[in-house]
Amino acid sequence: MKVLVIGRGGREHAIIWALKKSAKIARIYCAPGNAGTAQLAENVDIGELEFPRLVKFAQDTAIDLVVVGPDDPLAAGIVDEFEAASIPVYGPRKNAAEIEGSKIFMKDLLRKYDIPTAKYETFTDYEAASAYLKQQPLPIVIKADGLAAGKGVAVCFTREEADKALEETMVDKSFGAAGDKVVIEEFLEGQEMSILAFVDGETVRAMSPAQDHKQVFDNDKGPNTGGMGTYSPLPHIAQSIIDESIENIIKPTARAMVSEGRPFRGVLFAGLMITKDGPKTIEFNARFGDPETQVVLPRLETDLLDIFLASINGTLKDIDIKWSNEAAVCVVLASGGYPGSYPKGYPIEGLDKVSTPGALIFHAGTSLKEGQVVTNGGRVLGIVGRGAGIAEARVNAYNAAANITFQGKQNRTDIAAKALL
Ligand code: AMP
Repeated sequence: MKVLVIGRGGREHAIIWALKKSAKIARIYCAPGNAGTAQLAENVDIGELEFPRLVKFAQDTAIDLVVVGPDDPLAAGIVDEFEAASIPVYGPRKNAAEIEGSKIFMKDLLRKYDIPTAKYETFTDYEAASAYLKQQPLPIVIKADGLAAGKGVAVCFTREEADKALEETMVDKSFGAAGDKVVIEEFLEGQEMSILAFVDGETVRAMSPAQDHKQVFDNDKGPNTGGMGTYSPLPHIAQSIIDESIENIIKPTARAMVSEGRPFRGVLFAGLMITKDGPKTIEFNARFGDPETQVVLPRLETDLLDIFLASINGTLKDIDIKWSNEAAVCVVLASGGYPGSYPKGYPIEGLDKVSTPGALIFHAGTSLKEGQVVTNGGRVLGIVGRGAGIAEARVNAYNAAANITFQGKQNRTDIAAKALL
């Protein structure tokens, strides 16, 4: 089979790495890819949102399966485009991807079907939102309705922060049209956990859970990022909590989407807060998480291609998905300045010196310049350590990360530390 993976991040590198293990795949293409995907696949210079060119490439190359990584093309209906051209494609259609593309759609769905989430109100009018905000207890959370590259959420601990966040979102339009509507929601306290699930209509096959580290600095300090590191599994979280999340949140949500005439097919990613009243939904994403994928897929023992094909054929329920017991920890190496502005084009040294057993290097913001791998994004590399438990995987990840250098390199030093307390 010939497979086309769409995207350019660490997530797509990890998906390709996992697909590469399938004996049924002859060739993998990645559009547009990065310097890491180029080692395992053939990069194609077409952007994620260039639908007509992507479809034409798939037709001309006789692609058997398209796998879509990022949220933007999903929200814009890339799956519908490939389906219209009769090309098999893995991912949710536009009407199902809305569970990520519109927070208001997601919150209203959960309210309608009585699925646990933070209490909230939605607004299209700044004055009304501002008046409501003043009545709410602190802390309070303000969210732009639409996609904002992971940045449209403000957790506010003071009145000033809250007023500023609302004004930036609705008046200054810091996130563009994504902030035309907002959700103002109750602050949830507890531990966060991500559960990704392969979903095909009503069939839900949850993956092993992971935990992300959103803030740029150690001890969860500094601004939010796309994610500075992850680990899986979560030894400090009881299996009963994980089961409760799947039974009370993910499965009812998949059923709700079917009832709404928007069956979800693809990876449904639940961001959850484990509160004293049980797990509650923070968000849903309509795709593999980045960098959750980098720690989850290395633990997958079942052929990923078989899972994708079964989802497309509606036979996911017949597949038994197996996970290894080993642990994985991913440390993200980022450009200096990220998540603010940062320079690009610095040479990356030491990629071939990593001799840590089991370590994997997933490229995110990298490119090739005259044969040299250089930085090309905020999050540059995800270094994954594997081991019998989190402690061993963590040592392996940090040892491997220490071999790699580039100007301005920054990373958190406390990834997965919580799991060892
Ligand atoms: P989101 O993009 O919706 O996942 O939000 C980004 C981050 O903001 C989450 O990972 C949480 O850390 C935090 N967050 C979002 N909503 C809430 C909430 N209702 N209560 C507490 N923290 C939240």
